[in-house]
Amino acid sequence: MSTPEAPVSAVKVRFAPSPTGFLHIGGARTALFNWMYARAQGGKFVLRVEDTDLERSRPEFEKEIMDSMAWLGLTWDELYKQSDRFGLYRDHAEKLVAGGKAFRDGTAVILKVDKARDIKFDDLIRGLIVFNTDEIKDQVLMKSDGSPAYSFSCVVDDALMGITHVIRGEDHISNTPKQILMYEAMGFKVPKFGHLPLIMGTDGARLSKRFGAVAVSDYRKEGFIPEGLVNYLMLLGWSPGGDQEIIAMKNAVAKFSIKKINKTAAQFNMEKLKWVNAQYIKALTAKQLAVLAVPVLKEEGLLADGFDPAWLERVLELYKSRMSTLRELVERAGFLFTDDFKVSDEVRAAQLTRVMPKEFALLADHLEKAEPFDVVTTEKIFRGVVAGLGIPMGEMVHPVRVALTGDHVGPGLFDTMSVLGKARTLARLRAAFV
Ligand code: GLU
Repeated sequence: MSTPEAPVSAVKVRFAPSPTGFLHIGGARTALFNWMYARAQGGKFVLRVEDTDLERSRPEFEKEIMDSMAWLGLTWDELYKQSDRFGLYRDHAEKLVAGGKAFRDGTAVILKVDKARDIKFDDLIRGLIVFNTDEIKDQVLMKSDGSPAYSFSCVVDDALMGITHVIRGEDHISNTPKQILMYEAMGFKVPKFGHLPLIMGTDGARLSKRFGAVAVSDYRKEGFIPEGLVNYLMLLGWSPGGDQEIIAMKNAVAKFSIKKINKTAAQFNMEKLKWVNAQYIKALTAKQLAVLAVPVLKEEGLLADGFDPAWLERVLELYKSRMSTLRELVERAGFLFTDDFKVSDEVRAAQLTRVMPKEFALLADHLEKAEPFDVVTTEKIFRGVVAGLGIPMGEMVHPVRVALTGDHVGPGLFDTMSVLGKARTLARLRAAFV
């Protein structure tokens, strides 16, 4: 008979969102660090929906949280909903009353807290933390409406689910001693706690709507890609070491350690997030990027079924190092997909001041002969026309770019022309001064 193997790892962590709002940056980072720790330790990651507040919990928030986690790749091994477990909380509260540790106040159940005791815990991130029970009131376990208090259902579940490490936001530090008292009262083993640093906005204040505190689903709509957002979230309080900032998940998991998480607040920086995302977009092949870009372009009405995938890949090849989000692709390359693009008055004023209808017509007539209509041929013809007119290149390049693209910056003019194609290039040149 073979001896039973020892369990490989007993690590079990959880992310326990309350579905009273969308998944925000802070929650997503908490979920990510728990997930990474579970993966790093070969442990389990539990998703527990803390929907005990029946009035404020909403199915649409629950759905957004789960969809966003799945989109970020934060898959869970077990899923629970606290609203399915009210009976358990009631039973445990009753036991505490029966054992003399808690008392009833009407229909509510309250835990007695003895005074003048130090409650200590060795926080995985912040080190030793001590609270004195003189600062802690008796704790409501069950509210008079029959629903459990957050702290209590959380403890019952963490204990029954075998959670070994509670990794959560710093805003929960003051809950920890109260919860330790509940573990003790019920005779449960106290898990390890780690409190993640706050995330501040770039302005040094708490994250606000203006500074990043929007839902993960909004970042998704904005055209961030999950690998980019996840990599950025990782940097909010943790670093793979050295100057490294871009790191594949597999390598990050291999290096991840709770001990290396910072104690000091992390700063959310939108520019940095965009930069990280841009690195991921740039690293994709045009084909891979097409998979992500097609739905966005279709949603914008810029791409119809039956588009030419080879052409789209040429567009993406040209733009993938020039965009940090898929939204920017729409903004910057929209003119390639529709004739209905806007030229801002500012751009028009700056670049189309010189009225050059003759020059444009001449250029169009020459470009009409370009065969093939590619970078080399269009450039040769363009230079020839400019030389014939005896004007500096720039005087022609800038207004032509504005006429073709609606903007004064972008990829090389001849790359742009060749992707735009002959028919549209000529039509835009001829229509520019009409
Ligand atoms: N439901 C709590 C929250 O959303 C969970 C706190 C915890 O992780 O213990 O903040």
